[in-house]
Amino acid sequence: MSDPVPTSDARLAYLEADLADLKARGLYTTIRSLQSPQGAWLQIDGRRVLNFCSNNYLGFANDSALKDAAKAAIDRWGVGPGAVRTIAGTMDVHGELERRLAAFKGVDDTVSFQSGFATNLATIPALVGEADCIISDALNHASIIDGIRLTKAARYVYRHCDMDDLETQLKAASGKGYRAMLVITDGVFSMDGDVAPLDAICTLAERYGAITMVDDAHGEGVLGRGGRGAVDHFGLHGRFDIETGTLSKAFGVMGGYTAAKQPIVDWLRQRGRPFLFSSALTPADVSACIAAVDILERSTERVERLWANAAAFQGAMRSLGFDLGVTRTPISPVIVGDEQKTQALSRALFERGVFATAIAFPTVPLGKARIRVMISAAHSPEDLEVGIGAFEEAGRALGIVG
Ligand SMILES: *Cc1c(COP(=O)(O)O)cnc(C)c1O
Repeated sequence: MSDPVPTSDARLAYLEADLADLKARGLYTTIRSLQSPQGAWLQIDGRRVLNFCSNNYLGFANDSALKDAAKAAIDRWGVGPGAVRTIAGTMDVHGELERRLAAFKGVDDTVSFQSGFATNLATIPALVGEADCIISDALNHASIIDGIRLTKAARYVYRHCDMDDLETQLKAASGKGYRAMLVITDGVFSMDGDVAPLDAICTLAERYGAITMVDDAHGEGVLGRGGRGAVDHFGLHGRFDIETGTLSKAFGVMGGYTAAKQPIVDWLRQRGRPFLFSSALTPADVSACIAAVDILERSTERVERLWANAAAFQGAMRSLGFDLGVTRTPISPVIVGDEQKTQALSRALFERGVFATAIAFPTVPLGKARIRVMISAAHSPEDLEVGIGAFEEAGRALGIVG
């Protein structure tokens, strides 16, 4: 997207002032235009650049098996779902994906939505209302926060991954006589790559009689046996109540889903507003996702390659002196701090053929700007060497590492 074009419309002057302010503070995001599919390398503005930005953890976004499945689905089912499923009916292929995901995740059932974002907007307000409360990690994803905003439930926020504070909030809430208490956390926190202690959360929630929900957008396809997610990673099958996930990250396609016990999924098909008032995923998306599940069930090879790549990259970057924070996953935040300097690093990397976007406020707190490197199974060891070399040069030139 290009720079904003000034208008002479006085009614919009406040937006122009706000845009100018973003630029002055180094917070204005320029969106790069790609001339290639997602993969280890991208074509941007006529240049071939190494891709360190996408959530395409397993390289599925341009995988031939997924593309073939999508093409065959278009021939078999057409391009659109027609309307919302409760009115137009649901194609067999949607039911098949939901059953396949349920088997993969080891849950009673799943229901798909149009995106991971929509999944949280569907799930949270359907489960709790005025009589209930939500207890939420302070760093939960924007889609969880927005899902919470759509409810009339009372809100309690606990300090990030702080189990003492979670217990304090649970104690405070349980005195109030709510009908239901819902504890919500990200599984993997997308900006730092740390993992929520789901085992401790589960134990505390059980003690106080709360329902548990994890948004596993960055855990699906990454954590657990063969990428079965954070609940599998912690061995909490049957104990953690609700998993929401995306089909746009490791699955490489588009969409989201909730995996849970049968009554919860049944209720979401009756009362999840993005299910009732927004059309379903396309048959091509759904079929490509089924092909991804096929591959994940057949082999753990991609997931293993992802973790090996992450270990190699993070080890090399740390020995160069970069601050990678507290990550425990392939998410590799290179924390610089200052917003302008982070943008300068991103530009210097791009000049060296590496696409790695600066992430700043409001996605992360002010003064915590970073370049979040996303490692993929699609990267080769040589690709990682190229990226590490560029970080070393650019980091030294800008005085970020010695
Ligand atoms: C990316 C992300 C989402 C949104 O998923 P989309 O499918 O891109 O809408 C939701 N929750 C978390 C934690 C995420 O990281």
